[in-house]
Amino acid sequence: MNNLFSTPIPDEVKTLLRTKLSAATAQAATAEQLAKQLQHWLNHYSQLYYQTANSPLPDTDYDYLFDLLNKIEHVFPDLRTPDSPTQRIGDGLSSNFATITHTIPMLSLDKAYSADDVVGFDTSLRKLLGESADEVSYTVEPKFDGSSIALLYENDILVRAATRGNGTQGEDITANVRTIPTIPLRVNLSQYGIVRAEIRGEIIIHKQRFDQLNAQLVAKQQNPLANPRNAAAGALRLKDASKVKERALEAFIYQLAAAFDADGNDILTQQCPQHYDNVLLLQQLGFRTPAAPNHNAFYQTDNIQAAIDFVEQWRQKRDDFDYEIDGMVIKLNQVALQERCGATAHHPRWAIAYKFDAKQARTILERVEFQVGRTGAITPVAKLRPVALAGVTVSSVSLHNEDFIRDKDLHIGDTVWVERAGDVIPYISEVDTDQPRGEQAVVFPQYCPSCQSQLYKPEDESAWRCTATDCPAQIEEHLIHFVAKEAMDIQGLGRDIVSRFFELGLLKTIEDIYRLDFNHLKTLDKFGEKSVENLRNSIEASKKQPLYRLIIGLGIRDVGKATAKMLAQTVEKDLPELQQWTVEKLQTLPDIGPKVAANIVQFFAQDNNLQLIDNLRALGVNTQQSEDAKRIERGILSGYSFLFTGSLQRFSREKAHELVEQHGGKLLGSVSKNLHYLVVGENAGSKLEKAQKIGTINILSEDEFLALLPQEE
Ligand SMILES: [Zn+2]
Repeated sequence: MNNLFSTPIPDEVKTLLRTKLSAATAQAATAEQLAKQLQHWLNHYSQLYYQTANSPLPDTDYDYLFDLLNKIEHVFPDLRTPDSPTQRIGDGLSSNFATITHTIPMLSLDKAYSADDVVGFDTSLRKLLGESADEVSYTVEPKFDGSSIALLYENDILVRAATRGNGTQGEDITANVRTIPTIPLRVNLSQYGIVRAEIRGEIIIHKQRFDQLNAQLVAKQQNPLANPRNAAAGALRLKDASKVKERALEAFIYQLAAAFDADGNDILTQQCPQHYDNVLLLQQLGFRTPAAPNHNAFYQTDNIQAAIDFVEQWRQKRDDFDYEIDGMVIKLNQVALQERCGATAHHPRWAIAYKFDAKQARTILERVEFQVGRTGAITPVAKLRPVALAGVTVSSVSLHNEDFIRDKDLHIGDTVWVERAGDVIPYISEVDTDQPRGEQAVVFPQYCPSCQSQLYKPEDESAWRCTATDCPAQIEEHLIHFVAKEAMDIQGLGRDIVSRFFELGLLKTIEDIYRLDFNHLKTLDKFGEKSVENLRNSIEASKKQPLYRLIIGLGIRDVGKATAKMLAQTVEKDLPELQQWTVEKLQTLPDIGPKVAANIVQFFAQDNNLQLIDNLRALGVNTQQSEDAKRIERGILSGYSFLFTGSLQRFSREKAHELVEQHGGKLLGSVSKNLHYLVVGENAGSKLEKAQKIGTINILSEDEFLALLPQEE
């Protein structure tokens, strides 16, 4: 494998790199030959790249060849075969994914949580096999935490890719899977006499890529993805295949599950008498497998203790691995023996997943509630039969979104495993398929559970939303948000009391908080003189809250504390003046992107929102930025501008910007006479030179910059 790295670029490829489109399309015969060559080499290099994370062909050369092929295929559409690398781009929208039936059911694996469980697995397996027990050996490989897929190849071409679904039937996601570079579109199976093959594996996301994706989502003010597994499952179901590519999905392939010759005979066992051979064959065919040379993730032994030791090694190093794994799979190596062991209704008897440290508990999914958030986003919440798990009682867990529900194939009444690893919030890890399944599938509603208006899902968001402005659930959540600790902080008006007042019709709008009839409240159950007095005081006190708290309370979408503070600072006289700000002007404020800016503009463009602010002012609520607040918030760096250059060692660039803003300073994008301070890290270049030339700019080291700030930083 390693000598591939040093392979020189063949002359044929060099010639291709000099080929121009005009020459290529001179005549159909030449074009066909060229297209074939290009397809071959592009497939070769992308495979090399994704198997070994390295390729001797520079990216620019790859792109050139790719572009050339794409153009030739455009001129001669017949040359665009399904295994052409250009078909990885994905085009067109698939509105619905067809249901397919798996050639062989995709069973889930039985689980072990301790070395004793694994020893028990070995003992019962040997008992089952009787005299053949002497032949037993095992393989060990990672249990990737992604989304399972089944690939069907016919005559060497990938013809279908499907999700696991309920194990018997899955969804056809071929168009999306084609975009995944680690999955070969053509595989030379025919050299082994295999005409039709079903191949199993896992779609995953690199940990770093997952973090990047989430950072991008957060920057775009969208909700981050729950975990890499959910991210992979969600991406596989994107309607627009070209968007799948952006998620940078990868695959690990771990089993040739079925292989048929031209006469339809199953020749799997004949080709691969052992699972070990099976994986090596896949690796050799060009799939990325646990046996990939750089991972040391595939192991064979005839000793169960050695298998357990290998798992322990991986338990130690899993955090350093590039992909999320939640355990290791131990499989009986001999396929003939596997067949003799067979399967229960739910699991093969010849394999076990040894799960890492997560704490587990099993309980019943009793029902699913669809909660409407303040911004209309619908969150499915599983209501569970209460169960003790790692020191807490769990009775309710988020199901995140529709993809999560489908990926788990949840039914009401299912027995589910709830997991909690470290400080992570408990979540449903999977359905216990050993128990009877619930009958009624969990179906995501099409209409808002509160106001019955039709739900809407913005493209590329995972959440469905109710967009009705008069949706009672949203209004109630809005009230709860307004009085919350981080907003107007009205003590004595918690979630339960707001809900009660809302149901009683005492609170219909935000203004109603300041119109409560306290004498009437005294007549309510559980409301004594004292508590009503306390409530009156805290409502009265809230009228004097600083402006930023009111801005948070108004619930402008994606406007959190930092943005609210910044907006408050820009208010000269009174809050409604913000309606004069355009999207462009708002974006000149630090950390306000186009989406937040648009949300702010939209908020202040609505008469009912301006009316709300006017009403609140009339009721005595502060809508102005006080002089004190202005002074405090102006900060120690107020009046000075800053720019950072070079590679910073003491803090990240984001942190540096945050510090400047936090202390009232201004950030500039380039060196000019208006700049007061240039802070230089290592290897500062042209900006430093320019600043020195201008001569009036203070040049600071990172430590000198820190020294400007108050001590507690
Ligand atoms: Zn609604």
